[in-house]
Amino acid sequence: MFNNQLQNQSQSVKKHKIDLPPKKQLIFSIICFVVAFSIGIGISRIIVAVNGNGENTENIAKSETAENTPEKVEEGPENQEKTDAELEEELSKKEEDLKKAKAEEEKKTTPAPASGNCTESFGNLMLINPVFTVTTNFVSQRESQLIDLTATYGIRENKSTNGTPRMLPEAAGHLNDMLNAYKAYAKQTTGHDHEMQTRSCFRSRGTSCGRLCFATGTTDHHTGLTCDLIDPVYGTELNTDLYANHPEWQWLKANSYKYGFIDRFPEEWAGSSMSEPVNITEDGSTGLFETWHYRYVGIDAATEIATGKYNNGAYDSLEHYLKATGRINSLTSGKCI
Ligand SMILES: [Zn+2]
Repeated sequence: MFNNQLQNQSQSVKKHKIDLPPKKQLIFSIICFVVAFSIGIGISRIIVAVNGNGENTENIAKSETAENTPEKVEEGPENQEKTDAELEEELSKKEEDLKKAKAEEEKKTTPAPASGNCTESFGNLMLINPVFTVTTNFVSQRESQLIDLTATYGIRENKSTNGTPRMLPEAAGHLNDMLNAYKAYAKQTTGHDHEMQTRSCFRSRGTSCGRLCFATGTTDHHTGLTCDLIDPVYGTELNTDLYANHPEWQWLKANSYKYGFIDRFPEEWAGSSMSEPVNITEDGSTGLFETWHYRYVGIDAATEIATGKYNNGAYDSLEHYLKATGRINSLTSGKCI
């Protein structure tokens, strides 16, 4: 049965083929051939086109490479070298800046070494004490810049063994003005002639141990900006209590800033005790009380110190002032900012 059906179908196919007239069969065959041929050509063209594009792309790439490579070869390395050179330059500049910043930082934070004192660049505000010390070279150099107060202004030294009183020129001129003002005030108030004298100004060496020891390199007297003062009318020795109680001396403390001088070691900044070693503290205590020790710092700074700009209106110490104004970081370890 199944076989019969297949046979029928096969016969119908055969019949279908057979049923076409010979002309139509020919036309059909031609159409089939043409279609097949066209498809073949089309496919081959596509293949060629695809291959061709590939080749073109390659060629373009090759030609681009060929054209550009020499430029790239020539330009490329040059650009690379330039960039490298610039980078290197930039890098070395940055390294240099970093080194400078580091050196600056070290300069600011390193304690004053034995060979130098970071306050040497402070000019009239330079600090010398047992913490901020100077070398003998500094002392010698400073000594060469001094002028003779007696020869220049007629200011006399009270103690002959101290030698000639000497100071830096600017300070000396202001000291002369201040002492003349003192004489005028004293004469006016007491009716007597007062001749203020020095009792040691610049010192090239430290002091032997008497009241207190000051080793060479540790005393304010190395600055060339300082003089101990004495009014012979009140005796021949420096005496804190005696001087502190004289109205003329009080006038000196109250008015010296107008001439650029300060009371270098006022009682209010002496600290709890005057003893060895001199007790300099972070809060600005000097460890000393000396009514006779006047120090030139310049009129502007002296005014700020005397009027207590950084000390709630009360007389300042040089140490506290330098720290309060951001010049010194640590008073006990000798560090500038
Ligand atoms: Zn002194």
